[in-house]
Amino acid sequence: MTYQDLEKLVKKYNPEADFKKLEAAFNFAEKAHQDQKRLSGEPYFNHSLATAMTLAELKMDEPTIIAGLLHDVPEDTSFTLEEIKKEFGEEVARLVEGITKLGRLKYRGVTRYLENLRKMFLAMAEDIRVIFIKFADRLHNLKTLSALPEEKRKRIALETIEIYAPIANRLGMGEIKGQLEDLAFEHLYPDEYQWLIKNVSHRTQEFEKYLDKVKKIVSGELEKEKIKIISIGGRTKHLYSLYQKLKQYEMDITKIYDLVALRIVVPSVPDCYTILGLLHKKWKPLKGRIKDYIAQPKPNGYQSLQTTVFCSDGRIVEFQIRTKEMHDHAEFGLAAHWYYHETDREKIKSSASGLAWLKELARLQKEIKDDKKYLETLKIDIFQNRIFVFTPKGDAIDLPEDSTPVDFAYAIHTDLGDKCSGAKINDKMESLDTKLKSGDLCEIIIDKNRKGPNHDWLDFVKTSLAKNHIKASSKK
Ligand code: MN
Repeated sequence: MTYQDLEKLVKKYNPEADFKKLEAAFNFAEKAHQDQKRLSGEPYFNHSLATAMTLAELKMDEPTIIAGLLHDVPEDTSFTLEEIKKEFGEEVARLVEGITKLGRLKYRGVTRYLENLRKMFLAMAEDIRVIFIKFADRLHNLKTLSALPEEKRKRIALETIEIYAPIANRLGMGEIKGQLEDLAFEHLYPDEYQWLIKNVSHRTQEFEKYLDKVKKIVSGELEKEKIKIISIGGRTKHLYSLYQKLKQYEMDITKIYDLVALRIVVPSVPDCYTILGLLHKKWKPLKGRIKDYIAQPKPNGYQSLQTTVFCSDGRIVEFQIRTKEMHDHAEFGLAAHWYYHETDREKIKSSASGLAWLKELARLQKEIKDDKKYLETLKIDIFQNRIFVFTPKGDAIDLPEDSTPVDFAYAIHTDLGDKCSGAKINDKMESLDTKLKSGDLCEIIIDKNRKGPNHDWLDFVKTSLAKNHIKASSKK
């Protein structure tokens, strides 16, 4: 890999970038690390460049890529953050500082885990781009893990699966999550990994061949209907997620229908629905497996139409149909948002306001000093499944599973929570402890004369936000 490779990659999506500056950063980092080697024996700078290349693949902005090149400079070389600031400016220096702060950890066990999470969330709340750099850094470290002693390998792999992957998932970065998990899987559970490779790969290959035939049939049909195809191809399930799924099915591989799915990317949303119709006309769909994540996106923003059909020769095949923008979001989540929505960037960067849960976590982590309690809160607030509940105006409110109308009310506004006296869910009056489901439309009925929340609500509310408000108000 050379500077030219990096420049070529960046030019593809950002021809306006300051390439002089990029090259200067490349040379600066190369020089700073010149006497260092990785444990594998290769020059240290290879790691810096690989990190920057991954960020360029994610279509990150120029300061992020430069910070990727420089991310290990203050920690591992004689060059300082001050020098970076002088050469490359305040913004780059702040990103590099964010990464450096995430650096070394002194703690072990649960404390270490928590300390790690805390640092991640703080860094994210300050500037989400720090986490993108950390993901790119971790991906390359995982690829070169073999050079490390076993204990260290296992620790890094475990940390990846417990901390990095769930955060990537929460940010909607499916492809990054998959890569992180698969790379860690091999080191964390080597026996299971080998078993999977041995028992699955021939099956996958055979299935891919079959899908090639299906692909030709589908392409032909779409051509007849004059629907433009951006891409069509097999998507093989990531190994670690396949392993998780197999555990639910007694390791019986024949029960997994989405081992390989056929993914169709087209220009527009109407195209997506047209294709779904065409597929169902040609092949009978399996009951209960048609999913419209375009009309109702998953909580992490994922959008796609999915259906599973009795396909050619009676075999069961899953299809995923989406637009290019949905595709990039599904693979790269918030990072893709970065690229697509110029105006959102500043917003996300400065306050992470696109991510209410993130702001909330940063606040919590300052408030809660008790480790055990903090861990409980985290488990509920991020690592649990989330649901989307709609306001009468159509805004989607992102909540943890099993949330109630009271949680919903507090998520919108403190006052709405405090004065809440009833709830209509999908136009029907329901009690305040009803568990909401994704896609529900919820309307809060308020009592203007109400003095404050009911202390008994603490028995059923789910979010720490609602709990805190109720407790605070009953103290008064
Ligand atoms: Mn690094």
